[in-house]
Order: sequence, then C-alpha cells, then structure tokens
Amino acid sequence: MRVAIIGGGIAGSTMALLLGRANIQTTLFEQRDSLISGPPFCHLHAGGNLYPDISDKQCIKLLHQSIDFAKLYPFSIDYRPTLIVFPKSCKIGVENFMPRLVLLKNEYQKIVQNDPSKDILGDPSRYYKLYDKDYLAQLFKKPTPKNPKTLDEWLIEPSKKIDFSQIQTPLIAVAEFGINLFLVSSFLQTKLSSYSSLDMRLNSKVTSIKKENEKFILKADGDEYQFDYLINATGFQTGIIDDMLGIEEERMVEFKAAYVTKWEHTNTLWPEIIFHGKRGTKNGMGQFTPYPNSHFQLHGMSNQITLFEEGLAKSSKSSSYPILPKKLIQKIDLGWNSNDIEQRTQKAISHISKFIPSFKDAKVASKPLYGAQQIPGNDPSLRVAEVSFPIKNYARCEIVKVSSVIDMAKAILKDIGLKDEKLLYPLTDINKDKAQKLAKQIAKTRGYPEDLGSKITEQNS
Ligand SMILES: Cc1cc2nc3c(=O)[nH]c(=O)nc-3n(C[C@H](O)[C@H](O)[C@H](O)COP(=O)(O)OP(=O)(O)OC[C@H]3O[C@@H](n4cnc5c(N)ncnc54)[C@H](O)[C@@H]3O)c2cc1C
Repeated sequence: MRVAIIGGGIAGSTMALLLGRANIQTTLFEQRDSLISGPPFCHLHAGGNLYPDISDKQCIKLLHQSIDFAKLYPFSIDYRPTLIVFPKSCKIGVENFMPRLVLLKNEYQKIVQNDPSKDILGDPSRYYKLYDKDYLAQLFKKPTPKNPKTLDEWLIEPSKKIDFSQIQTPLIAVAEFGINLFLVSSFLQTKLSSYSSLDMRLNSKVTSIKKENEKFILKADGDEYQFDYLINATGFQTGIIDDMLGIEEERMVEFKAAYVTKWEHTNTLWPEIIFHGKRGTKNGMGQFTPYPNSHFQLHGMSNQITLFEEGLAKSSKSSSYPILPKKLIQKIDLGWNSNDIEQRTQKAISHISKFIPSFKDAKVASKPLYGAQQIPGNDPSLRVAEVSFPIKNYARCEIVKVSSVIDMAKAILKDIGLKDEKLLYPLTDINKDKAQKLAKQIAKTRGYPEDLGSKITEQNS
C-alpha cells in the first residue's frame, strides 16, 4: 500500500511518524520548508478549563486526549501550571466552575486507576487547587523563588503582582500545562527523516488530485504520483482538497493571532494565567503564556487583539473551502506590516496589564504567532474533532485542538487495517540535546526569539 499525506502540520506529521514506525510506503507533501509551521499552539487543554461555555463531554474528551498527546510527545510538555482567574467584570465565577472541576478531577482519578502510566498531570487529588485571599496573603509575604518547585511556589509571584481589586477570589491552579510547538517540530523533523519508508517532500505543494480506478493521482511540482490511500491533513485548506475531489462539506475556518513580548522587569518564572471574559467583547479572555528569559505570549479574545473582523469564514454551496478576507490571507502568505504588529501587540499588553499592572512595561519582542485553523461543521464553539472518511481510502483530518491527533490517528490506522497499540509509544528515541538546539534554530529562522524554542520547566510540580 502506498499512502499520501498532504500537510506537515501536527496532524500530517503525527500520521507520518506512525506510518514510518509501521514501515508503510508513505509520501508526505508539505508546501512550506519545515514541519509544524501552520497555526501555533502553546496550551495542552487537559480539561478544557479555558472554555467555560463548552459541554462537560468535550471537556472530558479533551482531558483524555491531552493525556494521550503528552504520552506520545513527552519532551514537548512544559510542566508549568495554569492559573485560572475570574475578573470582577466576568459574569461567571469560581462557583459556576466548581462542578466541572470536581468532575474532571474524578475522571482523571479513574484514568490513572485504570492505567497508572497515565498520571501525566501529576497526583489526581491535586488536579486543581483553590487559593483564597488569606492564603494568597500568606504567599505574598514569602520571597519569590527563582525556580518554583511546588504549586504554592508558582503562586508567589502572581500573589505579589496581580491587582486583586480587579479580580474575584479564590483563584484556581489547574494541571493544564504548556506544549512547545518548536520542540514538536524539531523532534518530528529529526525522527521522520530517519525512516526509509517515508519520502518527506518539503516545499512541495499538491496542486491537483483525481481518483481513478481506486487510485489517487496527485500532481505536485509538475510531477504525477499514484497512491492507494490519501490523508488530507491540510488544516484550514482542507476544503481545497475536498473541492478537487468533488466532495461537498460544511466547515469554518478562523484566523487568530497571539503576540510575543519581552518583560524585562521580571526575573522569575510565571505560571500560565487565564483571565476569563466573554469572547468577542473588549473584556474577552486574556491568556498570559510564559517562555524562558522573560518572554510572554499573549492572547486577548477581542477583535482588536487575537480575533479579527470577518476572521471566521464559512464554506458555501459552491465550495467546501471557506474563504477568508484577502487581508488575512495576505498575512498568512506574506506576513504582517510593522504597524499592525506594534499596534496589536500594544493592545495585548494593555489587556493583560489591567490585571498585572507592572506588565505595562513589556515590549514587542517579534512578529506574532498566527494562522487560520479549521472547525468542521457549523458550530464555532466546537473544540473537539478528529477525522472523517467521506469516500473509500480517503481520511480527512480536521482537528481543532492538537491533542485530538491521537484519536484521529487511531481511527485512520484502523481504516488502513493497522493495530495502533504497537505504534503509539512515546517519541523519546531522539537525541534530546540536538533536537533542543534545532528547536531554537527553527524559532529563530521563523523570525521569533530563539528562547521560544525552549520550555521553562521540565518538572511537574
Ligand atoms: C492563534 C492560535 C492559537 C492556538 N493555540 C492552540 C493551543 O494552545 N492548543 C491547541 O491545542 N491548539 C491551538 N490552536 C489550534 C492549532 O493550531 C490547530 O488545531 C493545529 O495546529 C492544526 O494542525 P493541522 O495539522 O490540522 O493543520 P496545520 O498545522 O494548518 O497543517 C496543515 C499543513 O498543510 C500544508 N498544506 C496545505 N495545503 C497544502 C498543499 N496543497 N500541499 C502541500 N501542503 C499543504 C500547510 O502548509 C500546513 O503546514 C491555535 C490556533 C491558533 C490560530
């Protein structure tokens, strides 16, 4: 069997890894010059605590899928905790959130009881911890540790720097960790190039596909190829491939950006902090994501920061490919102008400084991390999706969160007739130091501070 994978994002590259392990003749086509170069990711959604509006069912699935993701890519996980904060301006508060936290903690407990190797998020009894005002006042008096080890230590600096007049207490620390996309890119690039059964074609764009006599005929760079099985892992361009095959499907794509800053006035490690708020309003959720050497990545879920006017497009009757406005496609293809970078990053800094006032001194560190992502169907709040098989031997990947790749891969392997349990072992058989060096180099080559290629901690507190 010969398999074609179009797209070297996390979906396509994970499939290439597993088919490489299975020694299946596979060609991976990626139009860009390196793997995992589409929309960014930084957060392992182990419980969906960034999304108060989604169903418990989606949260439980995100918990399971995140644990499986961390098991496959253990080196990419940055074990800093996430602090969930409800500002006073937010209509919901901790009391609304508690039933779900209890549900998630109990589910995690069950997962670990069934399979102790899945204790990736630490001790289940400490899946979350509440920090009330009195306890935070005690932490406030302690010296800030340079390298926090316990959960309490991670909370010391926030207890000193957050403006408590703006927020509700208690705060919630939760075991949702970071994922370093540059490390994932580097590990996969290193590993995939070692498989003789895998032909990895970077800078290679698939421009046409037809199905004839059970075979898929692909054209890329003027050459024609024949395959028995096709995996469409083209992210927000999934609909272009559907259109080539004459398949109608309803879907959305959304363009978003996160901003990269440097805050010289802090010399300690921070947890990730989520300041909840209603999406699409000026008080939309703020996300403060730490990287080494005082770098912070910021999201602000308003149209002035992370979201964009007309940034959510839908497919039409005539095409399965949702068309984003030209100005957003130009950002993806040609990059950003410096005014846009400056203005949106400054707005992101102001958004976070409402809650951490001293953060107002942070500066723009580089262009943003940005891109468009796919959402199958017509529910823009969907956070869990994997893969569908609209015609024989055609797998169409449509993940919304990166952690869904494992369930996606299991379904594709089953469709191909391969057993997943022999293939889904941790990606650890690489030289970690070399891969770390390459991750920094990838960050730099793409125009970001090389610090973004490293994690802030290896340790699960
Ligand atoms: C700002 C932002 C922040 C995000 N943060 C998170 C997060 O913290 N956690 C999380 O889980 N998710 C996050 N996401 C979502 C996450 O980025 C996506 O779900 C994920 O990257 C999708 O991966 P993919 O492999 O499906 O698609 P992509 O990464 O888009 O990969 C598709 C690849 O296909 C290639 N391609 C397309 N057409 C062709 C062709 N014709 N020929 C050859 N190659 C082709 C593209 O170049 C691309 O590399 C975020 C998204 C955005 C926009």
